[in-house]
Amino acid sequence: MRAMILDAVGQPLRAAEIPRPVVGPGQVLVQVHACGVCRTDLHVFDGELPDPRLPLVLGHQIVGTIVSLGQQVDRFQVGERVGIPWLGYTCGVCRYCRSGRENLCDRARFTGYQIDGGYAEYTVADHRFCFRIPPAYPDLQAAPLLCAGLIGYRALTMAGDAERLGLYGFGASAHIITQVARSQGRRVFAFTRADDLASQSFARELGAEWAGDALGSPPEELDAAIIFAPAGELVPAALRAVAKGGTVVCAGIHMSDIPSFPYDILWEERVLRSVANLTRRDGDEFLTLAPRVPVRTDVVPFPLEEANEALNRLRRGEIQGAAVIVVNLSGEG
Ligand SMILES: [Zn+2]
Ligand SMILES: [Zn+2]
Repeated sequence: MRAMILDAVGQPLRAAEIPRPVVGPGQVLVQVHACGVCRTDLHVFDGELPDPRLPLVLGHQIVGTIVSLGQQVDRFQVGERVGIPWLGYTCGVCRYCRSGRENLCDRARFTGYQIDGGYAEYTVADHRFCFRIPPAYPDLQAAPLLCAGLIGYRALTMAGDAERLGLYGFGASAHIITQVARSQGRRVFAFTRADDLASQSFARELGAEWAGDALGSPPEELDAAIIFAPAGELVPAALRAVAKGGTVVCAGIHMSDIPSFPYDILWEERVLRSVANLTRRDGDEFLTLAPRVPVRTDVVPFPLEEANEALNRLRRGEIQGAAVIVVNLSGEG
């Protein structure tokens, strides 16, 4: 099969022909239709996350069709369209798994990091971690739901019932979460680089009532902020922007160092927290909610062989919405 391979961190992905993976017990073999490109793929590529499996197939927002079943697979049948997310395995027995926090599992394994992902024609996945894709979504539009949507949704949940919501970094996640937040009656304020007028106007089109400089002041206080951009200097900026009792959620897996800041911007019961990974429950909830909003995803497609170009354009902030690798579309949705 065709695949794009990461041989070593920092080296461009290599187009290769490799053997199709073989399905094991509890696994499904999936023909990949599309795979979303996530900021986390760049963090793996750049070596900012420790000890990736190498060589590795990146990609953890996979939409495809099951072509064969391993033993003990009882939730799916051949021919079903599924989504494969970042959370690829949990142990089920550690204290986190037993308390509804499998996103923090001590022995979790992640797709496109410790397990080969979706920048390839086929992949295998543990069926217990796959989701059914809402039928209303074509392959390309469904792919960004699986991480940008899902982890964005978890971050939104952590922001509580905040009415005035700030989103820092207006990429794939923010473009989805703006729509969800608006449907819940929240007011959205979008923060980008000062000179990124394209993202600011994109945010307004999607329902943000204000968009502007992430390091400047918002037009009024916020009740919560979610930071999607991997820039530590946004943490004190967001803390300054939230009102008393407000929450700042860091939604990314990696961030540059946070500069020191005076205690008085955290004082008065402001909360600073991160969000890590996802649970299967987050996925079920979000994939039920998305078609009801309805969330529409703006995608920028790239052929499989141009995965390096997709990563480069994401790095340069040139993607409006979500980049998606197109492998073999099914025509469903
Ligand atoms: Zn566990
Ligand atoms: Zn992701």
